[in-house]
Amino acid sequence: MISIIAPVYNEEHVLHELHRRVAAVMDGVGEAWELILVNDGSRDRSAEIIAELHEADARVKGLSFARNFGFQEAVTAGLDHASGDAVVLTDADLQDPPEVIPEMIAKWREGYHVVYGVRASREGETWFKKVTAAAFYRLIHRITSVNIPLDTGDFRLMDRQVVDAICQMRERNRFLRGMVPWVGFKQIGVEYVRHARFAGDSKFGSVRQMLPFALNAVTSFSYLPLRLATYLGFAMAVITPLAMLSVVLIRLLTPSQALLGQATTLLAVLFLGGVQLICLGIIGEYLGRIYDEVKGRPLYIVEQRWGVQKSGERR
Ligand code: UDP
Ligand code: MG
Repeated sequence: MISIIAPVYNEEHVLHELHRRVAAVMDGVGEAWELILVNDGSRDRSAEIIAELHEADARVKGLSFARNFGFQEAVTAGLDHASGDAVVLTDADLQDPPEVIPEMIAKWREGYHVVYGVRASREGETWFKKVTAAAFYRLIHRITSVNIPLDTGDFRLMDRQVVDAICQMRERNRFLRGMVPWVGFKQIGVEYVRHARFAGDSKFGSVRQMLPFALNAVTSFSYLPLRLATYLGFAMAVITPLAMLSVVLIRLLTPSQALLGQATTLLAVLFLGGVQLICLGIIGEYLGRIYDEVKGRPLYIVEQRWGVQKSGERR
């Protein structure tokens, strides 16, 4: 069986079309399938539509969160409840075309455990989103020790073994695009064209929405920001004695009144104060995440279920 998981946040206008396209594609594959729709606290009619779809077609299953917990949590809940031998993650908005899924299944049958979709091009997205996304994937690729493939979103097929491994990773502030390559196994990409949204607006279009995602990605997979403080400290420790020496020489060898007064002192103090605050903030970012882990709260709270078992839920 193949499970297809789609997180849903205010997607009332796409769900019927999503079901239609997924059903058309999956009926051609000739394997049992289920479509798990995870309603992430939508404020529109998404929950009712999921209920309707489940009524009409028992292969559509779903659950509703008690509030908006976020994309990563919604996908995690889907993985927890999926019963397929392979699981496909896709966005509900049809930006990831279901027509690519048979290609992924073919690769899976060849023996690959993870088949991820590589965005050969992106349609209907702002240049700002494209530029920041391209920069982000390259940065994260450079600074993490995990080999996170470039231009790859969450659209991917995962074998049951991989899903089980991911389900054991209950970290908060999750970054699934890093967790899947971290797990290992045989992974391969297939290229596809990322289409424009079928309807509705992007929930990750502005800096305010993308920044927390990027921060989670960096802090989950890299200590580089923390090391930056150490590097800066060493740089200062090397530069400062040289500066001291030059001050002494200038005072001894020139009659000028240079380097007197408060301005120089003030600038140095303010500059170092700024650097120290930034370093504290970086430590704070990691500290806050440690605090989240220590609290050990569940990743999501389910309010309603359609065709899935409560026992699927994990903390
Ligand atoms: N989504 C979600 N919870 C959120 C935000 C988004 O479940 O808090 C879902 C959304 O319904 C969609 C997917 O995550 O199915 C991707 O969101 P979106 O298409 O807005 O992001 P983009 O494709 O523009 O990056
Ligand atoms: Mg989208």
